[in-house]
Amino acid sequence: MSTQVDGLSRLCEHPGSNCVLSGIVLGEHAVQMELDNDAEVIEILTQALRQAKGTKCIPYPIRIARSKWRIDRFTCGSAAAHEAAGPDLSLVLADPVPGPASSVTPALLFAGEATSSKPGTVQGAALSGLREAERLLDVLEKREEESKCRIKSECSLPS
Ligand SMILES: Cc1cc2nc3c(=O)[nH]c(=O)nc-3n(C[C@H](O)[C@H](O)[C@H](O)COP(=O)(O)OP(=O)(O)OC[C@H]3O[C@@H](n4cnc5c(N)ncnc54)[C@H](O)[C@@H]3O)c2cc1C
Repeated sequence: MSTQVDGLSRLCEHPGSNCVLSGIVLGEHAVQMELDNDAEVIEILTQALRQAKGTKCIPYPIRIARSKWRIDRFTCGSAAAHEAAGPDLSLVLADPVPGPASSVTPALLFAGEATSSKPGTVQGAALSGLREAERLLDVLEKREEESKCRIKSECSLPS
């Protein structure tokens, strides 16, 4: 089953499930749908469902649960928007703290899609995790070296 309703495209049965439907709301429709009230969204979804199933007998839902990531002031959307800050943003966000210019071993590392060269994707998020795991191993190795040197200098007899 697949249908196209204004504001909601590709309403499809979820693969492997006989009770879950997924639909995608894109572009300006997504912007508008966050601004619509629940009653308006319920109307769009119910009409989409009726059209997809070819019947007017499907009742309205009692309530819906939905996110509003775009208008939430703490998220401002559901994916990193690198265009706004330039192509090098991911490199900056991937910098540990203290940064690469510092001689101090990093104490804080960052992974996640926004820090990757493939922002907004699971693949980018996964690759960034591997990158930071490698960095963590380097940090731990460096710390061990530093600690060995400290012990050595503390234990060495004064000449
Ligand atoms: C609707 C939608 C569809 C998408 N479709 C695709 C797709 O088809 N293909 C694709 O490749 N990508 C898709 N993406 C993007 C993909 O889901 C993300 O890029 C990816 O999940 C990012 O992974 P992440 O580990 O960076 O962040 P997240 O998966 O967001 O993980 C961050 C985690 O940190 C937790 N967290 C946040 N704050 C705190 C805190 N203060 N303390 C503790 N935990 C915290 C969150 O709960 C979350 O579990 C889609 C995203 C959305 C929203």
